[in-house]
Amino acid sequence: MLEATSYGDTRRSMNRNDATAYYTAKLADLHQLEYDFKIHKSYNISIQTHTTATGSYFEIVLTQDDSHHTPSPQQLDSIEQQIASFRGQTGQNGTYLQSGEQMLSIVGLHADYDFQSMGNYRPSTQVDRYAFAAFCEGKADTNFVNTGHEAYPYVVRSTQYLDELRHEIAHHLVYSRCETSVPPLHVENEGMTNSYAVMYLGANRDTLNSIGASFPEYAMNAQTDQAAASAHAGTCVVD
Ligand SMILES: [Zn+2]
Repeated sequence: MLEATSYGDTRRSMNRNDATAYYTAKLADLHQLEYDFKIHKSYNISIQTHTTATGSYFEIVLTQDDSHHTPSPQQLDSIEQQIASFRGQTGQNGTYLQSGEQMLSIVGLHADYDFQSMGNYRPSTQVDRYAFAAFCEGKADTNFVNTGHEAYPYVVRSTQYLDELRHEIAHHLVYSRCETSVPPLHVENEGMTNSYAVMYLGANRDTLNSIGASFPEYAMNAQTDQAAASAHAGTCVVD
């Protein structure tokens, strides 16, 4: 007889398939919990008391914040194809700002040009003045654009601007697929994000390479390409 007992959960079965199904489900839960731990996912924790005929026991209940709706992988594929085929054009003021907003809206994002306000959503980290644009999980529907960046006046008048945004959109999509924008894939995360933008969002590899030339963590290579493919497939952790 196979028996599984934990915290008042007692079940008995003579059926090997039942037991296997039970353990498989428990193992899947455990792997999910381990993954959530690795990505520092936040849970709400409550302790419930249960009373049974033989006594009472406590159960620790972990619940997740499911308030934000994540599109299905198929919906994400379709969004990515639209971003990859998006061709922007300059507006009346000679910039790609409007096109950028159109492209962001495909993925449900909007632009916030108050870069410093990002500090409200991740107070523990400093707002990097060398960053041209940024995504942060604390405000996942927003792409912050640094209008104070010294290259800003030039970049917004170049298609480079759209590729910068594609990089930020890649952060957002990795977040949608992996529940974190920093999946534990053992490569430089910014390089992986650049690879993702090139492979799935139509960003120009040479452009992103030249932007990141003086920042080694942004470099793309075979490993970051492989990690991007892995995140894209929903395999967001490697041992
Ligand atoms: Zn980035």
